Amino acid sequence: MLELLLARDGAGKAYDLLADMRALNPGVAPMTVYRAPEFLVEQGLVHKVAATSSFVVCKHGPHPHNDPVFLVCGRCGDATEWDNLALGDQVEQALAGLGLDAYGMEILWIACAARRRMPSGDSPSEM
Ligand SMILES: [Zn+2]
Ligand SMILES: [Zn+2]
Repeated sequence: MLELLLARDGAGKAYDLLADMRALNPGVAPMTVYRAPEFLVEQGLVHKVAATSSFVVCKHGPHPHNDPVFLVCGRCGDATEWDNLALGDQVEQALAGLGLDAYGMEILWIACAARRRMPSGDSPSEM
């Protein structure tokens, strides 16, 4: 399953993965395919992006104390993990003050022009 995601450039929707699995094994049960990425999410190898209902392979290894920050393109749905632990911690602390627990963040932006580059530094400046 992880290999199928990597073959899709690291991201895919559940039904894309089902199509890929069926191409390899026509008899595979949909539930098996839908459970596999959830398992990878629990293992911390893959993140689920709610805005696009897709699964994205984590590029940064384990997240020790905060959950991922994703930049999601509002135009094409491209989801890029933003390795910004400071922002993650800040939002997590703010939510903790309200008695809430964050489990990830998704920031919408228009990224088509900049999608080949990962944002660097503190802010996505090329907007
Ligand atoms: Zn990650
Ligand atoms: Zn886009």
